[in-house]
Amino acid sequence: MLAPGSTIGILGGGQLGRMMAMSAAQLGYQVHVFAPDDHAVAADVSVAHSQADWDDSAAMSAFADACDVITYEFENVPVAPLLALDQAKLAPGPRALEVAQDRLSEKTFVSELGGTPAPFAAVDSMADLEAAIAGLGTPAIVKTRRDGYDGKGQWRISSAADIDPGEVAATPMVYEGFVTFEAEFSVILVRGRGGEVRFWDSTHNTHEEGILAHSVLPAPAIVGEQVDEARALAQRIAEALDYIGVMTCEFFATAQGPVFNEMAPRVHNSGHWTIEGAVTSQFENHIRAIAGLPLGDTASVSDKVVMDNLIGPEAFDIARHLSDPRAHLHLYGKQEAREGRKMGHITRVG
Ligand code: AMP
Repeated sequence: MLAPGSTIGILGGGQLGRMMAMSAAQLGYQVHVFAPDDHAVAADVSVAHSQADWDDSAAMSAFADACDVITYEFENVPVAPLLALDQAKLAPGPRALEVAQDRLSEKTFVSELGGTPAPFAAVDSMADLEAAIAGLGTPAIVKTRRDGYDGKGQWRISSAADIDPGEVAATPMVYEGFVTFEAEFSVILVRGRGGEVRFWDSTHNTHEEGILAHSVLPAPAIVGEQVDEARALAQRIAEALDYIGVMTCEFFATAQGPVFNEMAPRVHNSGHWTIEGAVTSQFENHIRAIAGLPLGDTASVSDKVVMDNLIGPEAFDIARHLSDPRAHLHLYGKQEAREGRKMGHITRVG
């Protein structure tokens, strides 16, 4: 068990790191953030910030020396610089990042474990695109293999004319058949150092313009019918990676059963409700897992929980948000409220 006062390193400086750091502080740990950003909101609540590029090996090695355990709040941390560090300090191991950073390797890995992703094909050229259209049909979504998030790097297409050939030539892509779903949900699990796995309840997640807008309990009946199968897959993924900490898998609930969308080797926006809505939050259990502490109870404290994301300038309409005395307002400390930027969230329980 990591002794109180030990230092937890977090790679990435956003709101997920900020909320992890607050849980780490509650448990008596110090947090050191590594992030290239000028203003890393996780560093605002941490004792130290190494502000350096991911490939600055001297800064990365000094950071690693200062930390007792190192984790991630951002799945696109480049893997190569991490391989030079003491692997025993990394939790989870970098293999989880490697799999999740590339949509093609992620879907292949999950298929091999018996999961069902949307029908997919690699697209490296217009010829590949034409072949995918012929083989898998339209409509479809063409996504960049790497670095996409919150609906960025994605094109909905009904024919090859809907995408610029320049984009296809520039970046490796994956072609995904369009899934007709009744609901979207995620499975969030925590796996401890001894291999113990616990799951939080699965909320109904709704998106607006590719960005999570709401997570709601209870989820519709179809989610309840499919969650066991989805959990079994998520657990196989975690075990195959010898994963430590919180891991998230997103699913579409379809008439044919749960279709795997993507995984995140980290805490997740669709788990923010667990701060007030579960006995132990995803952030606290992630810290407990990587620190080798006993895991906390993941049970929901109510069967009704609503989490609303605050995107863009509306986040600063604080008087309105707090006009409901049950609202738990979380603001991430970002100074500039750009359109489409995740600025905070509100959770209501009961
Ligand atoms: P992603 O970044 O891949 O999670 O995509 C963002 C959102 O776009 C998802 O949460 C879905 O609402 C939608 N989406 C992504 N892929 C598909 C698909 N193959 N079929 C239908 N909807 C999708």
